[in-house]
Amino acid sequence: MTAAGFVWDPRVAAHIYRDDHPLKPMRLIGVRDTLEQLRAFARKDARVLAARAATRAEIERIHDSDYVAAVMQASRDPDDDYGDWGLSAWGDTPPFAGMHEVSLLTTGGTLVAMEEVLSGRLRVAFNGSGGLHHAMRRNASGFCIYNDPAIVCGLLADRGMKVAYVDIDAHHGDGVQAAFYETDQVLTISLHQYGFVPELRRMFFPGTGSADERGTGRGAGYSINVALPAYTDGAAYVRAFDAVVPPLLERYRPDVLVTQQGIDSHFEDPLTHLMVSTQAREHVVRSFAATPCPWVAMGGGGYSLDAVRRTWSMEFLIMLGAPIPAELHDADPPEWTGDRRARVDAAVDAAITGALDAAWT
Ligand SMILES: [Zn+2]
Repeated sequence: MTAAGFVWDPRVAAHIYRDDHPLKPMRLIGVRDTLEQLRAFARKDARVLAARAATRAEIERIHDSDYVAAVMQASRDPDDDYGDWGLSAWGDTPPFAGMHEVSLLTTGGTLVAMEEVLSGRLRVAFNGSGGLHHAMRRNASGFCIYNDPAIVCGLLADRGMKVAYVDIDAHHGDGVQAAFYETDQVLTISLHQYGFVPELRRMFFPGTGSADERGTGRGAGYSINVALPAYTDGAAYVRAFDAVVPPLLERYRPDVLVTQQGIDSHFEDPLTHLMVSTQAREHVVRSFAATPCPWVAMGGGGYSLDAVRRTWSMEFLIMLGAPIPAELHDADPPEWTGDRRARVDAAVDAAITGALDAAWT
């Protein structure tokens, strides 16, 4: 079974957080159009999946009812004050008209992906609008309103399945980690930029995700953080991924793989300092594809519209087992040499050691 699903709903690609906001849901149109031009959806193993609205009960698998009620109110009346719930007009996550309804579709798209792979109809399904990994139980955070990856991992765990969640967004998957910090039923692995950013005079968002955040109680050793230095290039990133993710997945033997594939780690991304290339991402996503279990894939961050378009198009082609045209790849990906190479490699070695030392044995 190699069939792959692509969740598509034009309503999810049409909403606007705020005119000047870096998260532009219209970026998904470029991915869909590129795949259409490449005739990806005409391949016999390709399926286009309609999203559905998540139910309130599904949202409340992770979020408190009071928070959902506040988002519903903000959706009707965005001009009121929702600061207590992590929503603010000029902040990262502004209230906007219709936000509840579109967020139900975003989460519902990931739920459709889950249902299709669990049924065995598909080997993998990708929801580019999902992957909103920063949302917390009682507050929005970092452009994220409802935490669809955590909701899916929670519903899978409720069915008695062992879930491996791997987050390759440039930012720490803090909301998903928080939801499963005390359980061994969901293994979370996040590779992300970590540390103080001198030009911003603060920690890189969200500020969590050091290797010593490893879970507690039954969950001790099941929250894994690969805390990468700024300016980690593709070669170092692949080395870190290979050292940590495949060995831990092999040890854990999940029933289902859930991936958050934010592409704000790309070297063209304006919001982060990682330097991942499409070539590095091809390696990583081929590794996911080789994991022998059903696979639910999501998007995530990604603020260079061109990097989003090329990378997620390529990643869906990998899911299909289709050839990848050269035009989707970076023409000239950056790679450190000399002293800078040695410094990046030493810091990445420390991140690898920290992550492996934190893991359960
Ligand atoms: Zn991100």
